[in-house]
Amino acid sequence: MTTTTELLSHFGLKPEGQHAVHSPIDGAEIARIDYDDAATIEKKIAASVEAFHAWREVPAPRRGELVRLFGEELRANKEQLGRLVTLEAGKILQEGLGEVQEMIDICDFAVGLSRQLYGLTIASERPGHRMMETWHPIGPVAVISAFNFPVAVWAWNAALAVVCGDSVIWKPSEKTPLTALATQALFERALKKFGTAPVNLSQVILGVREAGEALAKDHRIPVVSATGSTRMGRALAPVVAERLGRSLLELGGNNAMIVAPSAKLDLAVRAILFSAVGTAGQRCTTLRRLFVHESIYDKLVPQLKAVYANLPIGNPLEKETLVGPLIDRHAFAMMEESLSSARDEGGAVTGGGRALENKFPNGYYAKPAIVEMPDQTATVRRETFAPILYVMKYRDFAEVMAKHNAVPQGLSSCIFTQDMQEAERFVSAAGSDCGIANVNIGPSGAEIGGAFGGEKETGGGRESGSDSWKAYMRRQTATVNYSDALPLAQGIEFGV
Ligand code: NAD
Repeated sequence: MTTTTELLSHFGLKPEGQHAVHSPIDGAEIARIDYDDAATIEKKIAASVEAFHAWREVPAPRRGELVRLFGEELRANKEQLGRLVTLEAGKILQEGLGEVQEMIDICDFAVGLSRQLYGLTIASERPGHRMMETWHPIGPVAVISAFNFPVAVWAWNAALAVVCGDSVIWKPSEKTPLTALATQALFERALKKFGTAPVNLSQVILGVREAGEALAKDHRIPVVSATGSTRMGRALAPVVAERLGRSLLELGGNNAMIVAPSAKLDLAVRAILFSAVGTAGQRCTTLRRLFVHESIYDKLVPQLKAVYANLPIGNPLEKETLVGPLIDRHAFAMMEESLSSARDEGGAVTGGGRALENKFPNGYYAKPAIVEMPDQTATVRRETFAPILYVMKYRDFAEVMAKHNAVPQGLSSCIFTQDMQEAERFVSAAGSDCGIANVNIGPSGAEIGGAFGGEKETGGGRESGSDSWKAYMRRQTATVNYSDALPLAQGIEFGV
């Protein structure tokens, strides 16, 4: 089974409409879809509110059962959904399958969580009183997602939101609507098996920016979880804040690695490769800045260049390919622009430029680039969503830590070192200022068990594991008086 039409029919889908969907593999039109108009969006939001009212009363462990069934659907259809991710987003099949595995993992996590939505019991200062903190479902949750993780990011949000008792409305990237429709079809199969859940518990809204804006504006949606560029976050956050809603932002990154003199260089090279060229440099956690100690620079950088010279670039469906296409022509143009401005700032570029142009005239394959920079210039400080690795030399640990943190983004970071003091300093309060800080591991490829997200322009949101579920619930402090008196807090006498 290889064609998109066959894959879509596997999910029971036959989308039709005015808008073409293209595969980044060769630029071919693979389907047509329609966008939801304002009236349909309105209807879907109203239906989501209704679904929420029913779902919030279902006991949480029972809600977990629905997510368990959904996880089973994902397991049974992992190959097909993974392949569709590759066709629509262009990541290599291993990564397409890995993305679906991530969905399965978060479902497993959420099923366990459905029995652990713990609150506290707090000592009351008043006699005959009990004070408790309870976490309640909050309402419909909007999930706005980016093209590069077309299904996993939704699952991080939706699996938690559903066990938390919320309904979900998903606005996928306009570049990847098909994987969203396929995921929704699997969710609907799980709903059918479950039997008694509201049919509109999870819905998809197809459209461009305006569809996302409609969700951001709507006061019936208490939580808007948005993943994408910092530009998108800047536009969306004030809209949600204006109505005093809650936004959960997962925005751009500009992730770094420090390779210290004591580092195991073979491990560092492998980690650099996976995190700098994996997903063709289109992960929010992609390695973009590499700081190498001057004592090992001349050993590491030539080694890296040699590996880069032989990277298998090609059709992401083929087994030996490690670097697939960029999402579209615009992405390639942005890469060219950044390489050109890096050159103007004194950078020495190895690699870069278009690959496989004859074979795929409408597919935008880029040769990953290594750019040796004299300093952390303006171009290095901004995120270019492409396989560009800026390499800089350092001498002193304090100096490199300061440089490491001197960018507007704060998503992921790492150090390769065998020096315990350096490792501990990196993850200490005065170390990396990112949401994710790793030692002897690259910056990408996080596990779902930890909270995922970043600081500064990355937006401050946390999704996935740990206590991220709290963002999808409302906290209530409830005090019960079981005495015959009415003592006031702070000992206030208010006399009758
Ligand atoms: P994008 O910002 O172009 O689009 C993301 C989504 O936001 C799309 O669904 C789009 O339609 C919607 N959107 C755009 N403007 C909007 C607005 N004003 N209001 C509401 N919705 C709006 O991003 P992209 O090109 O799809 O993805 C790449 C970016 O996403 C990169 O910057 C990457 O770092 C970031 N990203 C971050 C994470 C993370 O977890 N931090 C994960 C994946 C991707």
